[in-house]
Amino acid sequence: MTGVIVPDDLPLSRAGVDRAALSRTEDGFVDAALTQDATRVLLVCDGAVVTAAGSGLALFGPTQLPVPTTGDDGWLLLGRGDEGEAYLAWRVPDRRPAPRVGEASDVLVHAAPAETEPAPARSLPDGLGWTLLRDVGADLTAHEAGLATTAVALDAWHARHPRCPRCGAATRVAQSGWSRICVEDGSEHYPRTDPAVIMAVVDADDRILLGHAAHWAAGRWSTLAGFVEAGESLEHAVRREVAEETGVLVGEVSYRGSQPWPFPASLMVGFRAVATSTDVTVDGVELTEARWFSRAELAAAVRAGDVIPPGRASIARALVEEWFGGPLS
Ligand SMILES: [Zn+2]
Repeated sequence: MTGVIVPDDLPLSRAGVDRAALSRTEDGFVDAALTQDATRVLLVCDGAVVTAAGSGLALFGPTQLPVPTTGDDGWLLLGRGDEGEAYLAWRVPDRRPAPRVGEASDVLVHAAPAETEPAPARSLPDGLGWTLLRDVGADLTAHEAGLATTAVALDAWHARHPRCPRCGAATRVAQSGWSRICVEDGSEHYPRTDPAVIMAVVDADDRILLGHAAHWAAGRWSTLAGFVEAGESLEHAVRREVAEETGVLVGEVSYRGSQPWPFPASLMVGFRAVATSTDVTVDGVELTEARWFSRAELAAAVRAGDVIPPGRASIARALVEEWFGGPLS
């Protein structure tokens, strides 16, 4: 296949929402939206959103919320719909304390999936439940995915940035949830996005290089990935990560598509990378195994259950299937 992966093909990449950036700075916009019956609110907490059994993302009218909303700091303006209706998120107070000093909070490209995490300890009426975005992403509509991805990304940023990085004083929420302002020095702070590269490395025989990370469940294999370092280009990051993790050298690098990955703040930038060497030496730290697969080998391994491919909502899956030439399973 030669076509670029259309980002909208990836569930978590679907835009679907007018982000209404100009409305963020309107005084009282959220307060006014909360008086409108047409406004819709989703609930977000620590990577999870409230879903309704059998019908995807749960969206509530402002007077129908199943949890109390107190204070003004928990509202996020996600955007506006076709009829001008506002979409908001309410940040349900976190069940989990902020990461302690020295505790890794942002190393998630290769982190274990959060599938074993308990649901937020906030009771909901029957028929509603907390679902991690990772788990529900592939089942959402374009509209829902755009809302939920933005809400999870913003919620994670607020949770991790309660204090001013310049002076350590408290910050307050501004711009309808899109910035924080230091109460002491007035400095403004905005959500950050950390680019990560993710790549389908293919050799001269058209085999693909997949790896198994140290803390993944047995049998899980995926494309290589890693964060872009300070002062580095995307192309360089691709070549460096592949060399560091597997010893394989990479020549040509071509962009294939991207996907917001708010776990907690990444943007996955996807590439096809052409290997100029094939000897594999894993670093044993990030990756414990890496190997080349032909299409026939990968298909057989997936069929036999020896290889669990990346999740359906992930750009990793899209990159592998683009190379494979169709769905893996
Ligand atoms: Zn400050």
